[in-house]
Amino acid sequence: MYQNSLEFASQCDKEDSLSHFRNKFHLPTNDAGEALIYLCGNSLGLQPKITSEYIKKELNDWANLGVEGHTEAEHPWLPYHEFLTEKMAMLVGAKPQEVVVMNTLTTNLHLMMVSFYQPTDKKYKIVVESDAFPSDKYAVESQLKFHDFDPEDGLILWKPREGEELCRFEDLEQIMVEQGDSIALLMIGSTNYYSGQSFPLKRITELGHKYNCIVGFDLAHGAGNIYPDLHNTGADFAVWCTYKYLNSGPGSLGACFVHQRHAENPKLKRFAGWWGHNKQTRFNMRHDFDPLPGAEGWQLSNPPILSMAAIRASLDIFAEAGFENLRKKSVKLTGFLEYLIDELKDERISIITPRNNQERGCQLSIQVKSANKELHDRLTAAGVISDWREPDVIRVAPAPLYNSFEDVFRFAEKLKKILN
Ligand SMILES: *Cc1c(COP(=O)(O)O)cnc(C)c1O
Repeated sequence: MYQNSLEFASQCDKEDSLSHFRNKFHLPTNDAGEALIYLCGNSLGLQPKITSEYIKKELNDWANLGVEGHTEAEHPWLPYHEFLTEKMAMLVGAKPQEVVVMNTLTTNLHLMMVSFYQPTDKKYKIVVESDAFPSDKYAVESQLKFHDFDPEDGLILWKPREGEELCRFEDLEQIMVEQGDSIALLMIGSTNYYSGQSFPLKRITELGHKYNCIVGFDLAHGAGNIYPDLHNTGADFAVWCTYKYLNSGPGSLGACFVHQRHAENPKLKRFAGWWGHNKQTRFNMRHDFDPLPGAEGWQLSNPPILSMAAIRASLDIFAEAGFENLRKKSVKLTGFLEYLIDELKDERISIITPRNNQERGCQLSIQVKSANKELHDRLTAAGVISDWREPDVIRVAPAPLYNSFEDVFRFAEKLKKILN
């Protein structure tokens, strides 16, 4: 299906109905003004050209209207988060009521655990995949400690087997068989940031629920990359950020999913703030806390509109491209990358990420035996922006919105040259 030539890559770009989206982004350049090969959208997505207009609009409304912008701006600031909800919900397969854009990822993770991690003396343990992102691990460890449990005992790692790099579902089943009665929460990264492995979210949820556990997912590397179909998985909650595949700018806001079945449960404990309060009486300031139904009820503060404007710009681009189209291109683009890496026929190289495209997003994690960071530095000097993880893994993530088949081909050529 693939061919190892620049002509083939160019032909794929010509046939790609999404290729014009590349022009909608600012591509970083070297000192000579040439575009770099940017394969780091899993760390920080590129800036859409329309983003500055969306932000400028809010700056102008603020300049011209002052406080009146809350109600009089073209996109009034009071309900501004609502302008994001529908498109964000569509991207993750949720109902609008189940999704809200707010805070940042780790903050949302804590807020979710405050509500959904309610340990008892007998049922208190938390399962995470080993090689979970450090922030997630710190968050769950600190929740255990907050409830006076020792992470040594309370934190269970779902690990790859000796000599393997990927987690097997059977091993999670085994953990549940052995310790399910004492486990309160499964908190899994939907797509692992290190290996690029996408987990079977529905099966994990069903497994967790069978043992009366809460199941939450971190979609930091899933949102905008794979289709997590959140509502249908039945997961209790999920959190994600918007600055990776969602191209909304460094440190931009995160988002949160709370399954419909929890929408109006008055027994759920939560940390509350005024933005989660009933919109009708929010400004009377005299009422007891009356949470909004659904995910919105977890909001704390009135949100930063400038960041939300960037998210609105990004979601408009996703809606225009259509996620199904993007995913289709992504499968082909990453498949091409995989083919070219295999074509190097270099014994030092192995791809850690699953070979089955249903078990991965766009990222490939490439292990280069006996390499060190110098390899990455040389790639950078050659104009490739990728990501290095100690001890010997390069992570590359061709993003279907702005990466081309030619990018992928040129990356493989440069890698080959450096390895030789
Ligand atoms: C990127 C990432 C984070 C970052 O958390 P912030 O709170 O947004 O700084 C956390 N967890 C995972 C899995 C990530 O990939």
